[in-house]
Amino acid sequence: MKVFTRSRELASVRGGSFVPTMGALHRGHAALIAAAKASGGPVVVSIFVNPTQFGPAEDFERYPRPIKKDLELCEVAGVDAVFTPSETVIYPPGFVTEVRVPGYSEVMCGATRPGHFNGVATVVARLLGLVRPARAYFGWKDAQQLIIIRRLAEDLALGVSIQAVETVREPDGLAVSSRNAYLSSSEREKAPALYQALRKGETAAREGARAAEIVARVRRHLRAAGLAAEYVELRRVRDLAPIPENKPPFRIVSPSEGEKGGVLLAAAVRIGETRLIDNVRLGG
Ligand code: AMP
Repeated sequence: MKVFTRSRELASVRGGSFVPTMGALHRGHAALIAAAKASGGPVVVSIFVNPTQFGPAEDFERYPRPIKKDLELCEVAGVDAVFTPSETVIYPPGFVTEVRVPGYSEVMCGATRPGHFNGVATVVARLLGLVRPARAYFGWKDAQQLIIIRRLAEDLALGVSIQAVETVREPDGLAVSSRNAYLSSSEREKAPALYQALRKGETAAREGARAAEIVARVRRHLRAAGLAAEYVELRRVRDLAPIPENKPPFRIVSPSEGEKGGVLLAAAVRIGETRLIDNVRLGG
């Protein structure tokens, strides 16, 4: 396995599969790498904690950076090259361009994290330009991010196929995340209620409930579990358009529609100092 820090070293692995990450790798990242491996061709993983997608009060400084462990996971997973650029490789002197995906970026997580998705879109566009893969892999765990990146790859005709990988979960349903490490043991006990609440919403949708009722049911479950909801929303997977309150979302799309169809039921909660997100897809 090669470890590259400079962009010109990437020439030998162009045209393969790419998994961009912020490191602190776990089973979720491993699933992306496994999907990339399965497609054949060289697999490149990038590890870069992107400062521009963190707000001033967010956890950029304390974000975990266990680089040795990360490289071991990549090696075991059969990664061909790990790209660990410095900040000046990604943002060299004179860098001013910003990539924005308006409409998609200010809603849901973007409402409480202003500028976050502009930072994500810009760094991903830059990484795709440096790595120039045929395929790039993203997790459904961060569904809004995935949908934004699909949009930008298509709009900018980047010639990369954006591949989505299902959320990897702990046995109790909690989505695996680097930020789970921030939870105290009592917070960790509460955390699975986020996914459970979304599953209640999914059941309600299948029973024909309207959008407002589904959201209310999820909120009720979160409240009962002592989780503070930042948002609970139903949006179209294709373009994040909101589902009208009086519509039964499960009937808006037929279950046979592909994975780009369907409706996203997504939520963000706060547990103490930690913010967790999760989602389920209806009818996809
Ligand atoms: P991050 O390192 O948090 O920026 O995540 C890098 C990629 O891994 C993103 O595409 C995430 O959506 C994906 N990812 C993170 N956690 C999971 C998970 N539990 N299951 C699937 N994909 C994940």
